[in-house]
Amino acid sequence: MMDASVEADWISLLKPFLLWVSPFLALVFLVLLVVFWLRARRLGRQVYDLTLEVGASSRSLRTADRDLQSLFDQSSIAVFILDHRRREILYANNTALTAFGVSDADALTSRVIQNPEAWEESSFTLLEFEALLDKVTRTGLQVFEWRLPGGEQAPEWLDCSLSFITYLGNQSVLFTGVNITARKRNDALEKFQLRAMRAIASDSPLNQSLSQLVALIERLIPRARCAVFVHDAEQRRLRWTAGSSDLPSPFQDRLDELPVAFGAAGAGTAASIRERVVARDVRSDQRWDAFRDLAEQAGVRSSWAEPVIGANGELLGCVELYHDEVWTPSEDDVDRLTAPVSLASLAIERHHWQAKLEQMIVSEQSVRRISTNLLTLDMERVDEGIVGTCATMGDFFQADRVFICQLEEASHEISISHEWCIRALARLRPETGRKFPVIPSSLGVLFRESSPQVFDEENPLPPMLEFLAERLERGADKSVILGPIFRNERLTGFLGIQKTSAGQAWTPARTETAQLMASLIGAVMTRQELVNSLTFQAVHDQLTGLYNRHKLENFLKQEVARCNRYSSVFSLIIFDLDRFKSINDRFGHNEGDSVLSTVAQLVDQNVRESEVAGRWGGEEFLILLPETGTDSAIAVAERIRETIAQHRFSIPEPVTISAGVATFRAGDDPHQLVQRADAALYNAKDAGRNRVISAL
Ligand code: GH3
Ligand code: MG
Ligand code: MG
Repeated sequence: MMDASVEADWISLLKPFLLWVSPFLALVFLVLLVVFWLRARRLGRQVYDLTLEVGASSRSLRTADRDLQSLFDQSSIAVFILDHRRREILYANNTALTAFGVSDADALTSRVIQNPEAWEESSFTLLEFEALLDKVTRTGLQVFEWRLPGGEQAPEWLDCSLSFITYLGNQSVLFTGVNITARKRNDALEKFQLRAMRAIASDSPLNQSLSQLVALIERLIPRARCAVFVHDAEQRRLRWTAGSSDLPSPFQDRLDELPVAFGAAGAGTAASIRERVVARDVRSDQRWDAFRDLAEQAGVRSSWAEPVIGANGELLGCVELYHDEVWTPSEDDVDRLTAPVSLASLAIERHHWQAKLEQMIVSEQSVRRISTNLLTLDMERVDEGIVGTCATMGDFFQADRVFICQLEEASHEISISHEWCIRALARLRPETGRKFPVIPSSLGVLFRESSPQVFDEENPLPPMLEFLAERLERGADKSVILGPIFRNERLTGFLGIQKTSAGQAWTPARTETAQLMASLIGAVMTRQELVNSLTFQAVHDQLTGLYNRHKLENFLKQEVARCNRYSSVFSLIIFDLDRFKSINDRFGHNEGDSVLSTVAQLVDQNVRESEVAGRWGGEEFLILLPETGTDSAIAVAERIRETIAQHRFSIPEPVTISAGVATFRAGDDPHQLVQRADAALYNAKDAGRNRVISAL
């Protein structure tokens, strides 16, 4: 009870206070309520504003992405946006879709980005691409060149970048790719062009240079297979020198050695008319008539041939392109082929010059060797040397026979003086020294230009050289060149070089060399003539033609030495014309000379091969008789004396001689022997002349 009363106390105590304070509390509550309401209203407005703001921003973000997309859609740059974590294409513009040959972004994801097979033809593997994506996330922008796994119409090469972008609020990777195919193609072309030019400029073999050209041409003209032919001027044929490896070997083999003629496929025809030949469809083109099956087998349906012409207008070869469809070149194609055809011309011409140069060097060396041989011939063995040189010439000219004919102007005869020939041929001159009649002036007409003449089936040897025609091998592929030989500007014969094998036509350079050889042989013969004459003069007496004193002394020395060594014997006759001074005085010196010459002739006719007769001096003669004793020597002297005494000279009186004979004695020197013969001669004079006396 107590507690209840306490409680009542408290309430009663508080009541007045509560009554006093409650309106105040109510007021405070009211104020707080108002403040709170006001605050809440402001917050609500702020939240509302915020909601509005968020809505607006997300709207503008979407607009921005859309703007970006529409910008990309218009672009010629390939663009796609990639969710790099999920490897999904979120967006791809048309250029990108075309580049990859797909229709939409999903296809790009499934057929390319997530399909490793699609990357097989690309310059990148999928793994490498993914590594680039990782790099973007770590280090930012990545740039690279990419050959795409695309369709035929699509660009092949893109210059690419990968970078970060916020797309639809998420971090993604932006891919951009600029088409650099044309530049790449040009670079590649330049590379091929450079390679071709380098091959041409270097000393690479012709087929290698032309193979580089084939590669260049096949780059320039898509889907074409190409071949380059080189003209063989001697054979008038085109040789397949370089060609696409896609052209089967039977095709190459058959087109190799194509004749330069109409109907010899595109190349042969173009080469023969020296103009472009386009066979749009080889099936119906008559120039391909003979090669149609071959073309069919090689998958060749059309051909385009451009002749290759040299700087001097000569045919060098032909460039031919083949397509596996009915095709004809556009103006652009023709333009594009111009430079490679010029390069081909350069390559072939350069090769020709090089070959010519090499040939000239070899020629020059051979000519020099032959000339040196000829000009340093041992004059004692000239004929042997000339025949040897004929063999060297045969080798140089690849000839089968080399021969020299010499003309004897006085007798109007010609003979084959020297000859070399291959074993398989019969010699021209089985009959040594046989001479054939010829009219020197008509030979002069034949060689009137002083230049060599080529004779073959079309241009046979003239009738005056019938003896030669009869003996030379005749028929197709056989030709002989005759180069005139002059000595002191007189036509004295000719050099003949015969070829009997096919394909050995005479080139102007060879003909010129042949003439040079003929001139050298002329020079050798002139030199031989000169040497012979000098040698003769050195040992012969000019007036009588007998040996001179100098030569007689040599013979004497040799004979004395020989007899001393072998204890053999020989005799001497020295004779002198009787009263010759008086002949001179009465008939004149010229008559005297004539008498001396006649005496010499009579002596010459009365001595044998082994005996030596000469003019000892003035009107004295000496005769050396090997292996002859005194009696035989006296007999010879008597015979000569009598012959002279009985001869009727140009002067109206007989001429007589007095002779002394001496025979070698062991230990004699030439001087002693001559003295004894001289003494005997004086004895003969003293005894009344016109007689022979031997030394004691
Ligand atoms: P002998 O019977 O004594 O020998 O009388 P010879 O008159 O012959 O004597 P000699 O030796 O005195 O005369 C020789 C003459 O021969 C003198 C010279 O004029 C002459 N003679 C020498 N060489 C030649 C020559 O080459 N031609 C000519 N015509 N005369 C010559
Ligand atoms: Mg005398
Ligand atoms: Mg005398």
